[in-house]
Amino acid sequence: MAEDKKGLVIGIDLGTTYSCVAVWQQQHNRVEIIHNDQGNNTTPSCVAFTDHERLIGDATTNQAALNPENTIFDAKRLIGRKYSDPLVQKDKMLWPFKVVSGVNDKPMISVKYKGQEKILSAEEVSSMILSKMRDIAEAYLEKPVKNAVVTVPAYFNDSQRKATMDAGAIIGLNVIRIINEPTAAAIAYGLDKRNDCVGGRNIFVFDFGGGTFDVSILTIETKVFQVKATAGNTHLGGEDIDNRMMNYFVEEMKRKSKVDISGNPRALRRLKSACERAKRTLSYAVTANIEVDNLFEGIDLYSSITRAKFEQINYDLFEECMYTVDSCLRDAKIEKNSVHEVVLVGGSSRIPKMQQLLQDFFNGKDLCKSVNPDEAVAYGAAVQAALLSEGIKNVPDLVLKDVTPLSLGISVKGDLMSVVIPRNTTIPIKKKQVFLTCEDDQFSVKIMVYEGERVKDSDNNLLGSFSISGFPPAPRGYPFGVTFAINENGILSVSAEEKVTGNRNEIIISNDKGRLSNAEISIMIKEAENYKSEDEKFLKKANAMNDLDDLVYKIGKALKREDISSKLSWKEKEDIMSKISRATDIVLNALESLVVSMKKLLYRDVDYQ
Ligand code: AMP
Repeated sequence: MAEDKKGLVIGIDLGTTYSCVAVWQQQHNRVEIIHNDQGNNTTPSCVAFTDHERLIGDATTNQAALNPENTIFDAKRLIGRKYSDPLVQKDKMLWPFKVVSGVNDKPMISVKYKGQEKILSAEEVSSMILSKMRDIAEAYLEKPVKNAVVTVPAYFNDSQRKATMDAGAIIGLNVIRIINEPTAAAIAYGLDKRNDCVGGRNIFVFDFGGGTFDVSILTIETKVFQVKATAGNTHLGGEDIDNRMMNYFVEEMKRKSKVDISGNPRALRRLKSACERAKRTLSYAVTANIEVDNLFEGIDLYSSITRAKFEQINYDLFEECMYTVDSCLRDAKIEKNSVHEVVLVGGSSRIPKMQQLLQDFFNGKDLCKSVNPDEAVAYGAAVQAALLSEGIKNVPDLVLKDVTPLSLGISVKGDLMSVVIPRNTTIPIKKKQVFLTCEDDQFSVKIMVYEGERVKDSDNNLLGSFSISGFPPAPRGYPFGVTFAINENGILSVSAEEKVTGNRNEIIISNDKGRLSNAEISIMIKEAENYKSEDEKFLKKANAMNDLDDLVYKIGKALKREDISSKLSWKEKEDIMSKISRATDIVLNALESLVVSMKKLLYRDVDYQ
């Protein structure tokens, strides 16, 4: 197993819709995808809150239609974004749970838990999913896990990467490395083939998942996996396809049954699940039925959709994917004929139309389906985890060289963005550039750091700003240096320096608008512990009730036995039964008051409102 001085390291694919965990098994020299308690290799990235308990993963599925307002999915779509982001506003309309604006325009999810309102950030929800994945790994490995490599979409920006690390911090999981999902998938593909890649093989990874779409082109040459270019959309995936289908049936119901279900979260949640199932069916059949009994006001939905119709309503999404494929190859300056292998990753890459468009684009080339699209990312993360651990024997030697997905620079005169590090530059990297003051006797400069590809600064994403001051009086054109450094996790720090006076200032871009502060993380850590202990208490209570129930059943059965029963008088039997009933009441009341006092104790010094 992958163990370093700090302990075991696991690989986690934290997906929008499903997550997967894997570990390097030293004794077998291979990666093990770890199944959850239901025997599944992937776990829904879903958290639900009820009047009694918190549920994570598969346990949320059966109650989702009954409790749609408190069943959170798609949290990854909120991570590192602002509430006012048009994409958040659009998603919000489709989600049955409530999203509200928090401090600094941070999107927050509002749910009801044990009768009280709880406000959660996307990082908190992601931390709960990470904790579930860690629990799955710990149960399998039978030892505690403290370190993980977590994957993110290649196109995740700086704040989304940091928010993912924060999610780990909330549950005390040390995220030792963030790696890009398509790069991880490329490891899964190339691990056993790397020694055959003499002279270099160009691998195109097409990663179409539940919430995000990424493509990367890599060159594998013996042990070096060098990413040449990456492109993608952090808001395009199977969820969008499900939403399109859902809207299609909402409109159909308006036409055929004269009802509008769009304002009913429960009906929408049930319809969405039915659409997702139908979508999967359409990957192997040409029509799929949709049957939802009593969907809305006693009306059933019995309908069907053909593959042709499905392709028609989603065609622009598929086209957008193809446009991204083309631009990635152009960025990498690699001809499509020079691509040796096209690797499919992510559940949505199973859609036949998508595969056909991709195959046509690559002039009929066979697509590689040898890696499991649901597990490849976690597999690669586990290999990287093993590589980052010390003391592991027989880890395959490979070197990963990834790139930064977006150009990074600062705002200069004329409201322009001056690029310091262009997109697709290999990381880690440190680059210094000299800039000039634009006014006479300028005493200080405000450095505004942006990411994005647009010429005008405000059209890009502002990551943060800082000032450097104390410049000596001088005509405009006085020089100062700005240094950008991106580490292995793709996280940026920027510093500025003025040579003569030696004044220096530096920031690790903290995304002042959205990132959690240390104090907020500390509160969330405490809260996460509370959730965990409440979950454990709930389980204990449920087990105690089951034991009591079992006892009552056994005594009842024993009383029915002739040899025992005949020795007891009618009065004695009555007496036993009333004692059991009283004992049950006492236990129940004791448990209830225990819950109330634990609640008081746990929430004593935390204000959740
Ligand atoms: P991933 O993020 O890779 O786990 O992908 C999850 C997405 O893949 C979800 O939107 C699923 O609905 C979708 N998906 C899984 N299997 C299929 C399939 N056979 N056909 C179409 N979409 C699928």
